[in-house]
Amino acid sequence: MATQLLNAAAEIETIQDLLGHNWITTTQRFFRHPNALEIVMNPKNISTSDPTKRMSIKKSRFTEMLIEENGLDHRGFENWIFCNGMLFDSPDKWWGDHGLRDYPHEGVDLCLYRDRSGKICRIDEKTRIPVMQSGMIKAMFKDYLGQAIIIEHDKMGRNPGRFISFYAHTKPHAGLEAGMMVKAGDIIGTLADTSHSKAHIIPHLHFSLGRPSKSFSYEGFVWNAIRKPEKIMLLDPLPVIDWPYQALDAGESVCREL
Ligand SMILES: [Zn+2]
Repeated sequence: MATQLLNAAAEIETIQDLLGHNWITTTQRFFRHPNALEIVMNPKNISTSDPTKRMSIKKSRFTEMLIEENGLDHRGFENWIFCNGMLFDSPDKWWGDHGLRDYPHEGVDLCLYRDRSGKICRIDEKTRIPVMQSGMIKAMFKDYLGQAIIIEHDKMGRNPGRFISFYAHTKPHAGLEAGMMVKAGDIIGTLADTSHSKAHIIPHLHFSLGRPSKSFSYEGFVWNAIRKPEKIMLLDPLPVIDWPYQALDAGESVCREL
């Protein structure tokens, strides 16, 4: 029945649009019919426990802003490249001994991209980092390659409640501090120069997204705080970054050489 309705040439919109609610699952769609109101759910996902499947995530202009701010369009930026270990939840390291991480990857690592000629390039320590969406800087602390900056947003797309974006391995602009308001596209700093890092790791932006719990506090925030699911529910940033990408196997020479 639902399928038949969906196949009819009729307007489909989210149930949220209609009911004014602020929460919707990405697998629910509302079909408006003169006398009917129907929620269609994908049976595969009804019992999913994956939080990203239960959220309507707004895509951001993050990559676009990064390209513009750094003139990467002139360098022919086409798509992001991820080696094994750079994506969310990966257990692997993409640097050093290419062994296992201490903890599954808490976000994505942005450093490689392919240009129009097909060449794989990397962003360097001069890369200026734009803020994904408006919010307030809530915490800054040292990480093992530079500094991490945590920004809290009132909401993410239509999802109510606090949301954080987390930019790590950076060199924040002088004067940047917790309590400051920032707007989408504001430049908060550059990538940290990692040439002296013991791990011989190239400059990259670690980017995480998460929803802090109601009781969460930024007091004494350190990296390990994002590893506690009862404090922050981490999400895969890729759908939010919303830009074409290619994931390479660990065996690809460009990845082996990192
Ligand atoms: Zn990372």
